[in-house]
Amino acid sequence: MQPFTYERATSVTEAIASVSKHPNAKFIAGGTNLLDLMKLGIERPTHLVDISRLPLNEIETQPDSSMRIGAQVTNSDLAVHPHVRTHFPLLTQALLAGASGQLRNKASVGGNLLQRTRCAYFYNTHTPCNKRVPGSGCAAIGGFNRANAILGTSTSCIAVHPSDMAVAMTALGAQIETTNATGQTRKLGIGDLYRLPGTTPQIETSLTPGEMIVAVHLPPPPRGKQVYRKVRDRASYAFALVSVAAIVEQRNGRVASSRVAFGGLAPRPWRAEATEQMLRNGKAEPATFSAAAERALAEARTEGSAAFKLELARRTLRQTLAIAAT
Ligand code: SF4
Repeated sequence: MQPFTYERATSVTEAIASVSKHPNAKFIAGGTNLLDLMKLGIERPTHLVDISRLPLNEIETQPDSSMRIGAQVTNSDLAVHPHVRTHFPLLTQALLAGASGQLRNKASVGGNLLQRTRCAYFYNTHTPCNKRVPGSGCAAIGGFNRANAILGTSTSCIAVHPSDMAVAMTALGAQIETTNATGQTRKLGIGDLYRLPGTTPQIETSLTPGEMIVAVHLPPPPRGKQVYRKVRDRASYAFALVSVAAIVEQRNGRVASSRVAFGGLAPRPWRAEATEQMLRNGKAEPATFSAAAERALAEARTEGSAAFKLELARRTLRQTLAIAAT
């Protein structure tokens, strides 16, 4: 591992100033992804600013059931928070489907959003990877890519975003609150946080240098039943091959409203808005869900060993919609 210096920040302002001052500095919170990447020499920061003790671990709730979640709330604490369990069960289900108990105890909300892909070639420093070494090529294209993306890909990168939590937050319409190096705060929709790979897969978010996620805002929960389904190679401690976050409001046998987001299929949590439009006012029955599944995957590009994901995603979506519509 490359030598680095370390400091523990006592305020958001101090942390951002320090990261901005040191070239090649990084924030570290739970470290559940960053430390692995540092040990492998994939991330090589020369200075770490520990933000895990900052006062960003509050969960605030409002009478309309909306909430503000501090970026340093752990995944475990968020999953079992009574307000989340009552009003956002989708989020609890997604969080508990992720990683292991020990990792969830350390992993922060902000870190979960910013975790990096688990593409096997990204972690193998002996293979080309445009995300790790820009311009070197992509070993996953034409390689063993069964866990890679089929939506939102480019000819430079077909990696998937690995988070479960972010998929649920996408369906719930989360907004991300940040503070930047000049002290300005902004809120951006979670869909605007992530960039598609294009020709620069190494740039994964729209955050500016030194900008820190300080909180996540969830608007009042949408009407309807919330369901998170995750399909993976083993029952626990595995990333999604396909996951679906679905919220369906059923009235008189018809879909009054819905929210749909995929995980495990794209470089970012993938909101299927066209599918939501298509579901609206449709009969809450298998034929509607099948048509919605076809629509949701219409732009999928499958190749090599990831081709099975197309049918797996259709089936997972159909099943999840059927459960959410009951
Ligand atoms: Fe690297 Fe992306 Fe290709 Fe994986 S898919 S090898 S992360 S460029």
